[in-house]
Amino acid sequence: MTAAVHAEESKLPLTAQAAGQCRAALVAWFTREGRDYPWRRTQDPYAILVSEIMLQQTQIATVLGRGYYTRWMEQFPDASTLAAADEGAILKAWEGLGYYSRARNLQRAARTVIDGHQGIFPRTLEEIAALPGVGRYTAGAVFSFAWNLPAPIVDGNVARVLSRLFSFQSEINTPAAQRILWDWAEALLDRKHARQFNSAIMELGQRLCTPRQPACDLCPLKVHCLSAGPSAESLPKKKASRKTVTEDEHALWVMRNGCLLMAQETGSRRKGLWRLPLRTEPECRQLPLISRSKYSITHHRVTLSVHEAPHALPNGEESWQPVNSLSGLAMPGPIRRVVDDLLPRGGGL
Ligand code: SF4
Repeated sequence: MTAAVHAEESKLPLTAQAAGQCRAALVAWFTREGRDYPWRRTQDPYAILVSEIMLQQTQIATVLGRGYYTRWMEQFPDASTLAAADEGAILKAWEGLGYYSRARNLQRAARTVIDGHQGIFPRTLEEIAALPGVGRYTAGAVFSFAWNLPAPIVDGNVARVLSRLFSFQSEINTPAAQRILWDWAEALLDRKHARQFNSAIMELGQRLCTPRQPACDLCPLKVHCLSAGPSAESLPKKKASRKTVTEDEHALWVMRNGCLLMAQETGSRRKGLWRLPLRTEPECRQLPLISRSKYSITHHRVTLSVHEAPHALPNGEESWQPVNSLSGLAMPGPIRRVVDDLLPRGGGL
């Protein structure tokens, strides 16, 4: 073993021998039990980047089960296709996944690959991390999954595994704790099998080292884990998250000559997406309520009330959209559900 590797391992609360056993056990477990996902069958960094960005804040079951990843790769199979695509088409393909800045950043990343790297996906960690929307985790994932090159990754799953493995008692959502977790991830990484090791530690967090009732009896790290057993559930420790905020939104449902009044978002979070026009509660008080639903966005819990209006003057960002073209407009999931529910009821046609 080289001096450099010893230096790295000195950061771990484990002997070098135990660290080696952890690596071997994880890689062997993954070889036996690892799941087969489409992004694990490719070494195309663009395809891996797409999967990683989609999987931020979205479950694998949604990304795969509802066909988002497959459809995206069919529609935008490479960086040049995505770079040249119309923003409306991109938002439409992302419709229902939420956090739409991810889709826009993916296109900006594709454009950087085409314009800034002559169409060749960058191959250093620093260049990958400099792509729009790509942080240290995503850069490490692309680097290790595409080329099997050594870079650590720490996402929520990896942080949970490491916290429990080393019985880490600090709150993990602080910069100081994050630095320690990244150091541990780097020191524990199997540098020859970075692809398998990183996949393994993430999947261990998803399937065995789960937030509730971790399956320690089945865990390949059990003999070295300082938290194995019922007490594991108390880790990782976290600083309290932001308080939930409740909000009421009041929207209009106005039809005219086969068109519905719609508004296109200009704010940063949902820019380019279409929604029903919003009004204040007093403006809607006299109008019949035709739909009420709830949705969540980050820490906001929103109650959306839709009121039928006989007429309305469009504001700056509002326009009349033909009913038969609504299916082609990109809308946030909660708005799409309301529109799809109200239109077949006649919706004022
Ligand atoms: S033994 Fe339990 S707590 Fe420890 S890493 Fe495995 S599943 Fe997590």
